Amino acid sequence: MFVDKATIKIKAGNGGNGAVAFHREKYVPAGGPVGGDGGRGGDVILQVDDHMSTLMDFRYKRKYAAGVGMDGGGKRCSGKDGEDLIIRVPRGTIVRDEVTKAIMRDMSSGEPFIVAKGGRGGWGNQHFATPTRQTPRFAKSGIPGEERSIILELKLLADVGLVGFPNVGKSTMLSVMSRARPKIANYHFTTLFPNLGVVFARDDVSFVLADIPGLIEGAADGAGLGHDFLRHVDRCRLIVHVVDVSGSEGREPLADFEAINAELAAYSPELASRPQIVVANKLDIVQDDTLLETFRAEMAARGLPFLALSAATHQGIGDLISLVAEKLQGLPPISVYEPEFVPPEAKPATPEELTIRVVDGDTWVVEGAWLDQLLGRVNLDDYESRMYFERNLEQAGVYARLEEMGIAEGDTVCMDRLEFEYRK
Ligand code: GDP
Ligand code: MG
Repeated sequence: MFVDKATIKIKAGNGGNGAVAFHREKYVPAGGPVGGDGGRGGDVILQVDDHMSTLMDFRYKRKYAAGVGMDGGGKRCSGKDGEDLIIRVPRGTIVRDEVTKAIMRDMSSGEPFIVAKGGRGGWGNQHFATPTRQTPRFAKSGIPGEERSIILELKLLADVGLVGFPNVGKSTMLSVMSRARPKIANYHFTTLFPNLGVVFARDDVSFVLADIPGLIEGAADGAGLGHDFLRHVDRCRLIVHVVDVSGSEGREPLADFEAINAELAAYSPELASRPQIVVANKLDIVQDDTLLETFRAEMAARGLPFLALSAATHQGIGDLISLVAEKLQGLPPISVYEPEFVPPEAKPATPEELTIRVVDGDTWVVEGAWLDQLLGRVNLDDYESRMYFERNLEQAGVYARLEEMGIAEGDTVCMDRLEFEYRK
């Protein structure tokens, strides 16, 4: 089965925790703090792989996690960084955030994309020694890695899309116009995969042609196979609309033409207005010219470029290649989707979320996003700024909480790298 849409869960690695450790040596009674830092968590990275043409792999494996950062050790040993996880996707994969459905990235260029960032490692206690605190008995925890669900959606990168009812000769046309070798057989729904081929027009003019399989009536409403494939025409600059004019299958060219256009329009009006070249195929087995000529006249009346040819005998194929190359020259390049994903706004943190823990009975460690944000706004070397900091702590009830927890006069309060003696 062809899979061109998948939802997967990804998780970047958590950062490792910082260590609490002290230098120990014979005859040295009290060594300094030597707790190492935690390692960085690995990122989850998406990378284009041109050997892949479907999202099949993601049908069976839906959870992906990068390596976690190791905790720091003694002797200033940093924890090992977590390994990045590289997920390969076919070129033209659109990445969406599952919650907002917003586009995060269009994997059309070869550039890798970090889709979830690993967490930073926490600092070991080696960083927290100060002249008055020789033996810091705390370290920082690692930051969790990002985690989200993403939707992968494949939209082929082709200049030209072949559309038309099953069995009209699309795959045959692709095979005679390019070196692609799609499966060709005389029954409906032969093609289960969109096939891509490069067509060389003149010396250095070439274009990519895609055989979009199985467009049938009701496809846009999900009635048939075609629905899944319509997204692949999304990016095409030009549509080659193939119609069987031989009457061999009892098909009525104009009715077929209208039906396919109705499907395209139901899927996307923008797509329906994309420029089309109309191709009447199977010219070699036309018994009676009436069907062909009526159809030709109708297309002429609508002002649409029209060609009658035979994919089987190659008659008229050269003309089609030239016509496509000429039309493409005046058309905008293949569209690339702009990212529209805005990472969930970092919530303003509240002081209620602060954690307070006591170490060694008399050292109070205050941690949390609210504090980090506050510290980011103040310069502690500046008196005014320091007063502002104090006021904020007071108003946020941090001191009240410390009191409640039993802090005593003269105890030490640690906030990030700031420490001070508690005075009422
Ligand atoms: P698709 O379903 O549109 O991809 O159609 P295929 O390319 O698989 O062709 C369906 C059948 O029509 C096959 O048996 C082909 O050999 C046949 N066919 C395709 N083009 C022509 C043509 O120009 N003339 C004749 N006589 N048969 C053709
Ligand atoms: Mg086919």
